[in-house]
Amino acid sequence: SRPTVEPGRRKRLGVMGGTFDPIHHGHLVAASEVASAFHLDEVVFVPTGQPWQKSGTAVSSAEDRYLMTVIATAENPQFSVSRIDIDRGGATYTVDTLRELRAQHPDADLFFITGADALAQILSWRDAEELFALAHFIGCTRPGHTLSDAGLPAGGVSLVEVPALAISSTDCRLRVAKGEPVWYLVPDGVVRYIDKRALYLDAG
Ligand code: ATP
Ligand code: MG
Repeated sequence: SRPTVEPGRRKRLGVMGGTFDPIHHGHLVAASEVASAFHLDEVVFVPTGQPWQKSGTAVSSAEDRYLMTVIATAENPQFSVSRIDIDRGGATYTVDTLRELRAQHPDADLFFITGADALAQILSWRDAEELFALAHFIGCTRPGHTLSDAGLPAGGVSLVEVPALAISSTDCRLRVAKGEPVWYLVPDGVVRYIDKRALYLDAG
């Protein structure tokens, strides 16, 4: 059953942004761990529109990435997927995502979940100072990256150790292109969707 929020308590809404090309168990474990550690009521996964930081590389269609994210999260009553970045069109800026979620959920505190690599980039994101007024940021450990809040506003960021899964979407795409398995790296339904839609056959 869907978790309910007692009257008078502000809802705690996690936000997991990503390209999700494809979504994998590293994303899902990070969201689940942060939801538990920070007592979140819900985590909304927000697939990007055309990702500006990846404009040099081919990204799967927004609909394929959205559907894989839905398939991967469908069984968890605490997880949902938002189309806001996809439907806005154009490049995704996290500040726009958070402004829109804030407007949709005026009764909620927002917790933006990132891996160590994304956290290290935040100061390069558009309207960096406003980001910290809109949400509390939670940086998660990720194998191959150093987790640090150096240079980020004191009190604006929490760091969390999550079970180490050395999985990346890039590696999943390359595996599919080489005919190698992605079973157990991504949810079973996502393996089948990649196959059905013939995704990543010419990746890399
Ligand atoms: P790509 O290789 O295409 O960049 P990715 O695996 O990094 O894909 P993204 O969609 O870029 O996945 O990441 C979305 C968010 O999830 C980012 O904040 C990223 O740091 C985090 N993340 C991705 N994989 C992991 C992982 N294995 N452990 C912890 N966090 C992760
Ligand atoms: Mg990435």
